Amino acid sequence: MSITSFAERVLAWYELHGRKTLPWQQDKSPYRVWVSEIMLQQTQVTTVIPYYERFMARFPDLLALANAKPDEVLHLWTGLGYYARARNLHKAAQVIRDQFHGQFPEQFEQVLSLPGIGRSTAGAVLSLSLGQRHGILDGNVKRVLARWLAQEGWPGKKAVEEQLWQQVATLTPEQQVTQYNQAMMDLGATICTRSKPQCELCPVQADCQALALGTPTAFPHSKPKKTVQPEKTSHFLLLKHQQQLLLVQRPPHGIWGGLYCFPEFSNKQALNDWLMRYPEATAPTPLPGFRHTFSHFHLDIIPWLVELPTITPEIMAVTDRLWYNLEQPATVGLAAATSKLLAYPQLQQRNTR
Ligand code: SF4
Repeated sequence: MSITSFAERVLAWYELHGRKTLPWQQDKSPYRVWVSEIMLQQTQVTTVIPYYERFMARFPDLLALANAKPDEVLHLWTGLGYYARARNLHKAAQVIRDQFHGQFPEQFEQVLSLPGIGRSTAGAVLSLSLGQRHGILDGNVKRVLARWLAQEGWPGKKAVEEQLWQQVATLTPEQQVTQYNQAMMDLGATICTRSKPQCELCPVQADCQALALGTPTAFPHSKPKKTVQPEKTSHFLLLKHQQQLLLVQRPPHGIWGGLYCFPEFSNKQALNDWLMRYPEATAPTPLPGFRHTFSHFHLDIIPWLVELPTITPEIMAVTDRLWYNLEQPATVGLAAATSKLLAYPQLQQRNTR
């Protein structure tokens, strides 16, 4: 199957099934196509149409938009979401008014330099309104191509996206670029949809690699899940005096923020050093450890039980600490690992005096 035939088939499909009566396809100009392209980012055609018509009625040309008050632009955008789009649209209109004599630029690099316009949008504006040969790679086109090619990797990754751009450059025909780009967007929006592609209606089904594999919806590959970071080890000190155990409140941010937890040390030596302030304390006894899994790492907890036969009023009075009474538990927030350790039978059994 030759590459030319890909475009030919897409174009033939467009003749019969493509969208040709959208408001921005009438009375075409770079300004009108640009506004539609910005509105269509993250938003479906049917939602966009009434917004587009109101917007065009109020701002029929670039100068009307550039000279408008920001609030008015945002007001007409209300309900469309992603308001940075509207702010950038307004800003870009002012740049065009001030730096391009109010004429929408026709050079790709100039268009690309405008606020809120990326490579695909710049290509879409210039190809759809002026017929210039530029490829596009919006979400719909990415999906069609990733499936047709059975493209490995997540297209959000630069290298994968670049490979898709290379395919775009090869597949985009010399002629009828306006229709071809519109067709690719329509194909993605109406046939090669995210969850239920209608492959039997697709003009490129004969050589679609994802279809041949039997797994069209496996493409494009999704963003790789963050791998859980492996182990970190912490030594927890269970300092016990009679039925009371020493807890400290964690800083407000970070893991277990604001909750009460046993004093934590990165190694046994640090725990021993800290204990030097309690010369009468017993030698640390290890208790069964366990793994606590956070979203981004595993924490292997090694608990050490230390008994304090006596305790002075000064020790009791230190503020950011809590002597947690097993028989009369305080109503404080406890980290999950703390609760688990407080329930250890070894803490209930041993009693210094
Ligand atoms: S054959 Fe199916 S999966 Fe392949 S491009 Fe067409 S609609 Fe998408």
